[in-house]
Amino acid sequence: MSSTLLLGKLALITGAGGGIGRATAVRFAQEGATVIVTDRKIKQAEETAKKLGGTHLPLELDVTNADNVQSVIEEAINKYKRPPSITVNCAGITRDAFILKMDDSDFDLVLNVNLKGTYLVMKHVVQKMIEHKVGGAIVNISSITAKMGNMGQCNYAPSKAAVETLTRVAAKEFAKFGIRVNTVIPGFVHTPMTDHVPDKVKELILKQIALKRFGEPEEISDTIAFLSSDKSSFVTGASIEVSGGQS
Ligand code: NAP
Repeated sequence: MSSTLLLGKLALITGAGGGIGRATAVRFAQEGATVIVTDRKIKQAEETAKKLGGTHLPLELDVTNADNVQSVIEEAINKYKRPPSITVNCAGITRDAFILKMDDSDFDLVLNVNLKGTYLVMKHVVQKMIEHKVGGAIVNISSITAKMGNMGQCNYAPSKAAVETLTRVAAKEFAKFGIRVNTVIPGFVHTPMTDHVPDKVKELILKQIALKRFGEPEEISDTIAFLSSDKSSFVTGASIEVSGGQS
């Protein structure tokens, strides 16, 4: 099914080889956008791009590497003669352990990818949007665990709380350039990230969800598409929970 919510827009998605990023890329293409499909592993990005059909651009992008972030944006500008007007920061990782057992390097790694990666991509894409006088929308991804404070996620949950705060800061700083910045807060969603969660833990999580089921990546990308589109023209600095009522 194709429609025109994002017709003619150029969008950059990070982590687009994963569950939510891939569903978002598919949705964006269906809505008429051209997608710069990026992931840490180029094969993953290429697989997503293949699903989209048409002309989209798969690129390798490690969001923790500022040089890589800049070169990807340059490459996109060279190809399309403009920077993306939509950016979705889907790249994210977990490295779960209780605080007393947490490896310090895993603490740093999760903060680095989830928080610093989001910051770096926003910073460099917005610099180019300003240079080219392009307004648009940025969507960042937090998590319901940021609000709930899940045990075993002393790195992940704070990184996602910080993404939401960073988004509010960015919304205020970038409003004068015509750039809106919002957060989507997913609950538990069926993706490669959650595949490895043990069944016992899944049973416990299910009890926390009002709708008594897990989400699908497409249900997250619906909200991402809305926040990326002109339909949300008066929405910035906002956070939208898409969690089936998880608390
Ligand atoms: P996913 O399937 O694991 O996708 C995440 C993607 O990001 C993967 O392709 C991953 O590559 C990539 N990635 C990891 N490190 C990266 C880096 N340094 N640079 C660029 N890409 C990198 O996870 P998902 O469930 O779709 O998650 C998407 C976002 O939603 C994440 O921010 C996640 O925290 C958030 N979220 C997910 C859920 C959920 O229940 N699934 C709930 C709340 C929030 P590798 O596979 O090679 O690591």
